[in-house]
Amino acid sequence: MITAICPGSFDPITLGHLNIVRRASRIFERVVVLVMVNAAKPSPMFSIAERADMIRRVTAGMGNVEADTCNGLLAEYAKRFEHPVVVKGLRASTDFEAEFQMAQINNAINPGLETMFLTSSEKYTFLSSSVVRELAAYGSDLSDFVPREIIDEVLAKARTHGGKTNG
Ligand code: ADP
Repeated sequence: MITAICPGSFDPITLGHLNIVRRASRIFERVVVLVMVNAAKPSPMFSIAERADMIRRVTAGMGNVEADTCNGLLAEYAKRFEHPVVVKGLRASTDFEAEFQMAQINNAINPGLETMFLTSSEKYTFLSSSVVRELAAYGSDLSDFVPREIIDEVLAKARTHGGKTNG
């Protein structure tokens, strides 16, 4: 069985992420949405556990999707699966360089670990977690950007978080 791993910060999960996860779940038998610690984004809005919990709730209707967390290297994490493949969303050309580099590094650490890309759906090309955090800090309507199950807690967290936007 091929296991698709969709890694990211998911701080918080957006409709753009969810679109990629849903499409991966139609292609692969099993999908693991992996919440990773990102040292480049040092001041997250949500804890790793909170992010995984939100992912579990918004993917509850997708039977072959699960959430997990990882504070190490993706290439090492992937070794626990017999046939893993990393699945990522590509928004615009700006994502390309970094994703290309990461795919090659992962493959060097864990030979045989392939990365596949799904192009972002047109309406989510400009959507990122940082845009969501920015809008939430101003109490904006988030219904076009995050799954409805988590809108209230993203807005509530933004009120207590003081509108920090890192990455
Ligand atoms: P962000 O850049 O929003 O903080 P992450 O670091 O959590 O997102 O990204 C995880 C993965 O999801 C990356 O492969 C990224 O390209 C992809 N992704 C993020 N937002 C979108 C989107 N709107 N459409 C498609 N893929 C996306």
